Amino acid sequence: RATMAKSKFEYVRDFEADDTCLAHCWVVVRLDGRNFHRFAEKHNFAKPNDSRALHLMTKCAQTVMEELEDIVIAYGQSDEYSFVFKRKSNWFKRRASKFMTHVASQFASSYVFYWRDYFEDQPLLYPPGFDGRGTLAADKNEILFSEFNINYNNEPPMYRKGTVLLWQKVDEVTTKEVKLPVEMEGKKMAVTRTRTKPVPLHCDIIGDAFWKEHPEILD
Ligand code: ATP
Ligand code: ATP
Ligand code: MG
Ligand code: MG
Ligand code: MG
Ligand code: MG
Repeated sequence: RATMAKSKFEYVRDFEADDTCLAHCWVVVRLDGRNFHRFAEKHNFAKPNDSRALHLMTKCAQTVMEELEDIVIAYGQSDEYSFVFKRKSNWFKRRASKFMTHVASQFASSYVFYWRDYFEDQPLLYPPGFDGRGTLAADKNEILFSEFNINYNNEPPMYRKGTVLLWQKVDEVTTKEVKLPVEMEGKKMAVTRTRTKPVPLHCDIIGDAFWKEHPEILD
């Protein structure tokens, strides 16, 4: 590409910009609700923190992690959520526009899809929107600083508001019809299986302890 001769149509390429994200960096997509000041007012959010809204945001972020590839951690507060893709991800050949549009559309459709589970008595009055930006982080301090608005060097390691989503092994109990000897046919049995799910945590991700406990995020 770079070796191609310049032509008078060179400018066309500017419009199909190569948005491949630099290798060996964490791609971080941060979503933010569009005009949620108004959205919160119209939907009677409690001030300053409506817990229904926060739980719905977290449900949407879990859905994004489950539906899309390679997200290692997500962090959110208010009307925003950040998603960190694993450093070696080659999902969609690391194209920023693919990362951003898939995260934003999956999140927005989930917000509408799950609305009633969290806002039982409050109808959804109009379709909400979310903007996304793709950025790169070369180290963990950058993940914290540029994406979570935490200055790693200055902020005291204290409790912060917000939710962290991490993949964890969870035992799931389901009732299933299983193959049994003839005399017990058709009986249901409780089956426990271990699944890896995005689990919400309210922990301090600023201190080194968190990163030592979860080295897989920085793989
Ligand atoms: P923009 O489109 O530029 O993001 P915005 O109105 O969404 O504009 P933000 O800076 O993103 O502005 O602020 C989000 C606003 O949404 C908050 O200031 C608050 O009014 C409201 N909000 C978001 N989540 C909640 C919540 N869980 N409880 C109460 N209010 C909330
Ligand atoms: P990708 O995620 O890569 O886009 P895809 O399964 O969406 O995968 P597309 O090439 O976008 O693949 O093709 C869309 C497919 O969706 C069609 O091949 C068809 O099977 C189905 N489809 C879309 N719109 C309609 C429609 N109106 N009626 C019937 N089938 C449809
Ligand atoms: Mg904003
Ligand atoms: Mg907003
Ligand atoms: Mg915001
Ligand atoms: Mg398609």
